Order: sequence, then structure tokens, then C-alpha cells
Amino acid sequence: MLKIVISAGHGKFVSGAIGIINEVTEARRVVKRVSELLNNNGAKAIEFYEDIAKTQKDNVNNIINFHNRQDRDLDVSVHFNSSAGTTTAPIGVEVLYKSLNPYSFQMAQRLSTSISFYGELKNRGAKPRADLGFLNSCTKNPVLIEVCFVNSTSDVNAYNKNFEQICKGIAEVLLDKEISEREDEDMLNDLIASGYTENEIKSALIDLMNVRRNGGDPNHWTIDGAKYLAGRANLDIPNDYAEYAKQPITRGILGAIIRKMETPPPLENPPNN
Ligand SMILES: [Zn+2]
Repeated sequence: MLKIVISAGHGKFVSGAIGIINEVTEARRVVKRVSELLNNNGAKAIEFYEDIAKTQKDNVNNIINFHNRQDRDLDVSVHFNSSAGTTTAPIGVEVLYKSLNPYSFQMAQRLSTSISFYGELKNRGAKPRADLGFLNSCTKNPVLIEVCFVNSTSDVNAYNKNFEQICKGIAEVLLDKEISEREDEDMLNDLIASGYTENEIKSALIDLMNVRRNGGDPNHWTIDGAKYLAGRANLDIPNDYAEYAKQPITRGILGAIIRKMETPPPLENPPNN
């Protein structure tokens, strides 16, 4: 089985770039979602979020040490880029690789192309870097993704709009296969076949929506996808949610629903729009 260590850049106490969006926050979102996609599609993702270091040096060392301690095939780090000032101009995605490592180079090229395509971001391509601790010290063909520029309104809009597609684009390159939406439908069918009633599925969906509305889960895809699932499953969800029934369905959403169902939470405060 393909094993990938994927970490978010910087840390809880060590800030990354801050612009229209916050690098640490968004890198963590991307790592979480890409990991779900990897785990749902036959690979093993080992996630890492650095939560302890107070200095940049300790932060990078903790990340490197975590990566190198794992049994894995590939080291991936997720960052966001920044340049001076704020601009409306698109700047784009780039993926940094370890100089003179042809495998890292190829992976970086493919990742940059895929993120550019799915994210509607300019493709700045693969860039060799010889001065980054992560690339110099991680031993499994490291690549460092710079998803987009936090100081470009154009980049940030494209990133927000295409978050789910970007994560899918990253996961597909790492997996070296297309992630089929057919699998999502199969999983929904499994869910229904395994005996959950429509009411149980509906309760789980509404609960997920409440989680989002109460600020508990910043992952838009979860809720939007759940609403889409509701539409697909022909469930009696309030009409207010119909507008959301356009998002791609994902195994991650279904997985989240299944986990919710294992310990059904009480429904409270049905959301009103
Ligand atoms: Zn960074």
C-alpha cells in the first residue's frame, strides 16, 4: 500500500503567511481533505500538524523529524505563498522540489499542473530549491506545494471556489489514478444496503449542517456535499438546502456521515436560513 506523510506548513504557534487568508489555517484544511481522499482511495495518509514549537527552527525540525520517523513512500508538505502587498492580479500555484531529484521533479510538475487545472490557478510549475530544510532533510522524494498566493484576491477566490477540486487534483497525482465519483455512489448504495433508514441518513445530514452553522467545522465541502447527497438520496430535506445540491459528492462526506451514524447525536436547533 502506498504510504504518504503529508504535513501542513508552519505550526500552531509559528505563523506562516497572512494575507486575505491565513497560510497555517488553509494548509491544515488542505492536508486534512487530501488525507481523507488518499485514505478513501486505497492509500495510507499519515497527517502531521506541528502544534508545539515556539520558534521557526524548532518547527521545521519537528516536521522533518516526524516525516523521517515514519515508514512511507513519499514526503509532502502543504504551504501557501505570499509576495509583497495585496494584488487583484492572479499569481498562481508552484510546487518546490529537491534539486537533482528526478522523482521529486516529476511529482512537482504533475502536482502543479493538476492544481492549476482543477483550481483555475496560473501554473508557475515545478521549482528546484536548495535552501529549504524540509526538502533537504526529508528522505522520501520530498515535494512542497505552494497552493496559491494569500495576497492575491484572484488566487484566493479561485482557491475558495475550487477547494474540493484542488484537493482532489492533489490526491489524484499522489495516487497516480483518477478518483472516480462512481465510488461515491457505490458507497451511498452500501450505506443504504447496510440497513440505515432514510431517517437515519437524514438526521446525520442535518446534524452535519448544524455542525457547520455552529462554526464547528470549517470544511465547506462536508456540508455542501452532504446537501448534495440528500438530493441524490431523495431525502426529505428542507427546501432551503436545495440550492446546495450541486456539489460533487465525495467518499469523505459519506464516511463522515457513517461515523456520525455510529454515535447518532441529538438534533438540536434545526438551522434556518
Ligand atoms: Zn509556508
